[in-house]
Amino acid sequence: MDKVIVSVATTGSWTTREQTPYVPITEEEIAAEAIRCWREGAAIVHIHVRDEQGRVSSDPVRYARVRDLIRSQGCDIILNFSTGGGAGIVPDEERIAPVRLRPEIASFDAGSLNFGDRVFINSPAFLEALAHEMQAHGVKPEIECFESGFIETAKRFIERGLIQPPYWFQMVLGVRGGAPATVDQLVHMVRQLPVGSLWSVCAIGRHQLPMNVAALVMGGHVRTGLEDNIYYSYRVLAEGNAPLVARIVRIARELGREPASPSEARTLLGLPPFQS
Ligand code: ZN
Repeated sequence: MDKVIVSVATTGSWTTREQTPYVPITEEEIAAEAIRCWREGAAIVHIHVRDEQGRVSSDPVRYARVRDLIRSQGCDIILNFSTGGGAGIVPDEERIAPVRLRPEIASFDAGSLNFGDRVFINSPAFLEALAHEMQAHGVKPEIECFESGFIETAKRFIERGLIQPPYWFQMVLGVRGGAPATVDQLVHMVRQLPVGSLWSVCAIGRHQLPMNVAALVMGGHVRTGLEDNIYYSYRVLAEGNAPLVARIVRIARELGREPASPSEARTLLGLPPFQS
């Protein structure tokens, strides 16, 4: 069977030290965590950075520092920078800034929704600017879809040539306000994808592992990590991101799906070869 691309979302915008002491917050911690996860089989690291108070930030200086710390240790994991901005915390113009660092991938949230107690706005004007900026800097969008309408929005960018194949979709399931984390929903969304798509799934909290396993069986790819879920099992905190990566890699192998190395993932995603 096809190799599986394992992404790890180490930090996110919201996970706090009060919730779990294991979430990496500083650039040094995030880089060290990315390397630990790479050793366990992760091919992509999805990065958010935080400020001195631990609040979500889009500061390109901090993103560049994480990148440099990871690369200085000879780690070739694919870098995926978030443009989410913490759903309303960071102004739209600042959200785009990390794209100018030319990460291989950046997130592209293809629509707006209620997001827990917040509203996550990705206006048509913002998406238009973001798509152009990504194309100008050679950054591949990871098209995050919180419900099926997002896929239709992405298709309009694809039809206009603003997103190039192979298209890389991340189905984000189980957010309060978005699509529920069910196999039904995942199948429905995958059926909507245009020809030439690769897809991955992440899901919130206790849904993370079962939806990852569903993706493995369906031929998709997976994202794990403390951004989406802080528990290893019921009421037991995951002691970092690496145990979550190690577990899904173990399960994938049992199902006959070896984890793709970063260079194999670059080939699958149509990214240029690694340059240190
Ligand atoms: Zn994220």
